[in-house]
Amino acid sequence: MSTPTLTTHAAARSRAHGPTAALWHAVELHRPVAEVDGACELTLCGSLARIDVEQVWPVPARDVCPACVVLAR
Ligand SMILES: [Zn+2]
Repeated sequence: MSTPTLTTHAAARSRAHGPTAALWHAVELHRPVAEVDGACELTLCGSLARIDVEQVWPVPARDVCPACVVLAR
């Protein structure tokens, strides 16, 4: 069985700043999660968030960025 070469997404948590609440975003992964070192990554919707390697996208949470949900499909 061959592995499909689909783009994988990681879940990343943005920080709350000003009126913007902290949300889960999707980050396109171009390297193994093992090599993600906790730096801030550009999310699909264009904000910066820190990848949480404990989480997989889609996140089973309610505070998920609606733009990333659409873009990660
Ligand atoms: Zn987002």
